[in-house]
Amino acid sequence: MRIVLLGPPGAGKGTQAKRLATELQVPHLSTGDLLRRAVVEGSELGLQAQAYMDRGELLPDRLMLDLIDLELGKSAYDPGFLLDGYPRTVAQAEALEALLEARDWRIDLVPLLQVQDQELVRRLLGRAQIEGRSDDNEEVIRRRLAVYQKQTRPLADYYREKGLLTEVQGEGSPDQVTDRLRLVVKAAVA
Ligand code: AMP
Repeated sequence: MRIVLLGPPGAGKGTQAKRLATELQVPHLSTGDLLRRAVVEGSELGLQAQAYMDRGELLPDRLMLDLIDLELGKSAYDPGFLLDGYPRTVAQAEALEALLEARDWRIDLVPLLQVQDQELVRRLLGRAQIEGRSDDNEEVIRRRLAVYQKQTRPLADYYREKGLLTEVQGEGSPDQVTDRLRLVVKAAVA
């Protein structure tokens, strides 16, 4: 199964993606995690990524496509995958589609986690205190939400038109959200 999990920053994508990927026995591919690892390693990619991430802005589509192409080329992704954080622009979604088509693959399902803005800010500020992520201060949080609205939100329409989008209520406890996602996946395979 090939899933793209969509949702604004703070919607719980990372937590839910990990749980769902484990249940479905497919790898969880988080571009944010890949980039944070590159930053820690101090690689060329990491050096480029840090400035964008600290500002709460998106890295250039071209760079992200090279990264995702390289990653999906690994045999671990042959049985399927759960994408978290990619695509984030319509251009990325189109590039992903072409890349998958070349492998005779396609996306099966795109759940969109929905959480109100106020709740997102509350969660992100809470996480900032616990994890100390450098892109979790209030100014950057607001920028990331604005970037989401402008650049990533249009993906909902993109995938809706393809009949792949399912909106999932992202508020409530993490277990409740996992239950909802499980139902959506079940319906998609039925
Ligand atoms: P995330 O952990 O998914 O919220 O990603 C953290 C940061 O990594 C984002 O704010 C962006 O700066 C960068 N990033 C992650 N995925 C992408 C992507 N698909 N396109 C551009 N930038 C990305």
